[in-house]
Amino acid sequence: MKSNDKYCIFDTSGHPDLIDFLVKAGINREKIVGAFLTHGHFDHVMGICSLNRYNIKCYIDYSDLYLLHVNSVLDIHDGEKLLEEFGLRSIHTPGHTPGSTCFYSESEAFLISGDTVFSDGCFGRTDLPGGNNDDMKSSLRLLSSLKIESIFPGHGGYIRKDGSKIIKIALSNAEILL
Ligand SMILES: [Zn+2]
Repeated sequence: MKSNDKYCIFDTSGHPDLIDFLVKAGINREKIVGAFLTHGHFDHVMGICSLNRYNIKCYIDYSDLYLLHVNSVLDIHDGEKLLEEFGLRSIHTPGHTPGSTCFYSESEAFLISGDTVFSDGCFGRTDLPGGNNDDMKSSLRLLSSLKIESIFPGHGGYIRKDGSKIIKIALSNAEILL
């Protein structure tokens, strides 16, 4: 995400050379000011190694720290000021993993949703280690109280409209299935 000519990364992808990849895509490395992880699964965190090489700070909810094999990440609360600069706040949404986190812009009504909820009204898996059905339902209930248009999930396409409706669909799916 870009704001005031600075970039912040949300999920470092499964690409171990993430920063080199972004530089090749035309992004100035000096302008990348931090990275936030929606959760600790490997396909979202592999790029951490490339952040370390350039001293770019990375933040995660510490309840997911056990999923990582690095000790160079900071607790998400230490990144709150930086998130504010991008007009965002973190919302703890356990269920897929204990430390799953969404990032919300109230002014622009968008949600970076990780693997908690997807653009097609599906919710994230709760059957992997650390998953919890009741937590997933509470998290979706919490998200359904927000005004959301765009959803940028960890997998699949994003949507620019009617995000709140999609989250309500995900919640009713979860209430039936979990
Ligand atoms: Zn995941």
